Amino acid sequence: MDFEYSPEQEAFRKEFRGWLEASLPPDLCLDDAADDRVASDRETFERRCLWQKTMHAAGWVGISWPKEYGGRGSTLIERVIWEEEYTAARAPVLPANMGLNLVGPTVIAWGTDEQRQRYLPRILNADEVWAQGFSEPNAGSDLANLQTKAVDKGDHYLVNGQKVWTSGAQYAHWILLLTRTDPDAPKHKGISAFLVDLKTPGITVRPLVLATGHQHFNEVFFEDVKVPKANLLGPLNQGWKVSTTTLMHERHSAGGRNNVAQVARLIELAKTLAHDGRPAWDNPIFRQKLSQLAIDCEAFKYTRLRGLTRQLRGEPPGPEGSILKLTGSELGLRIAEVAGDLLRMHALVNAPSAAVPDAPRWFNRIIAARQYTISAGTSEIQRNIIGERVLGLPKG
Ligand SMILES: Cc1cc2nc3c(=O)[nH]c(=O)nc-3n(C[C@H](O)[C@H](O)[C@H](O)COP(=O)(O)OP(=O)(O)OC[C@H]3O[C@@H](n4cnc5c(N)ncnc54)[C@H](O)[C@@H]3O)c2cc1C
Repeated sequence: MDFEYSPEQEAFRKEFRGWLEASLPPDLCLDDAADDRVASDRETFERRCLWQKTMHAAGWVGISWPKEYGGRGSTLIERVIWEEEYTAARAPVLPANMGLNLVGPTVIAWGTDEQRQRYLPRILNADEVWAQGFSEPNAGSDLANLQTKAVDKGDHYLVNGQKVWTSGAQYAHWILLLTRTDPDAPKHKGISAFLVDLKTPGITVRPLVLATGHQHFNEVFFEDVKVPKANLLGPLNQGWKVSTTTLMHERHSAGGRNNVAQVARLIELAKTLAHDGRPAWDNPIFRQKLSQLAIDCEAFKYTRLRGLTRQLRGEPPGPEGSILKLTGSELGLRIAEVAGDLLRMHALVNAPSAAVPDAPRWFNRIIAARQYTISAGTSEIQRNIIGERVLGLPKG
């Protein structure tokens, strides 16, 4: 593993960092208390869309998309540098995040030329924001059990059914929808993917509110929704393969953004917060817990770099994808648990206190950390994948 960056890569970092310093409005930078993936209100969403347009005009969106589809065609390392700088600047997750990271790459892989021309530029410029319509009430881990139907009506498909946990659908214009098109085929083989305009009559989006009060995701109902035949993505009844492309990109982009910064802040807090009349840092149990979290962050970093090295060498994806998804989200949960033990009453109210000015951040983290162990494939499912496909253990 080579930890040095080439002069070109350093120049790329400097250029992006300089551009962010000059262009990123400070009031757009993430408020740590807020959920950083779906905007908390429409006004924030609209401002983030304008920000994405500014970034796109300067050539900083779709960094790893091929140039022929409007991207920058950057190398993998440049994409990593882009992410490091973007996170360090505390810039907001781009509103077209789902389109840029999941739907766009799926359309590039499976779309017709017309579909690529129609959809990709609008994703890059935040003119159209996408949602991912995969999960249903009885189809999450067992996604192939999905029941939303699309019936061939000659010149269109008629869609009926329900999706759930659809992140950001309250703002989205389009949805990548998985449907059952052949109810008689084995369950993985009768699925098709569609690109569906969320303004089509018959679609209802209903919010689901998280325990933090934030509206992250939604239920989406489809009642006699007419979807043009041209909106089929990939071949009919090959939707499972299409969805595998999407999920591969999703697991790659899943995982905590700032675990190291969180642990560093907890260490600072432990030195000032009193437990039994002395700073918590004087208690060897706290020091041990915090040291373990710092060690786990380092282990996570090197596992990530090992995966990156493999990709750079053009080797097939290794076990790192599932290991990173599993350990990243479980580490986030452990950080939240230690934060709760350390902050005690300060973590119970969603308001700053003199001792912990950033208490709302921790209130939200502690409540929200578990969601990462569920989204993009639960921890149990990741363990199954590691056990069966990586370690070659017998199926349970
Ligand atoms: C924050 C968040 C955002 C999300 N956003 C989206 C989105 O935008 N679009 C979308 O389509 N979906 C989205 N999801 C849904 C997510 O993909 C599902 O929640 C996830 O796949 C789990 O499915 P489920 O909730 O139906 O749980 P289930 O599959 O019903 O699982 C329930 C429990 O059983 C365990 N389990 C299930 N099967 C097995 C097994 N074979 N072996 C061992 N244990 C098992 C699970 O690990 C879990 O603990 C989101 C979820 C969250 C939390």
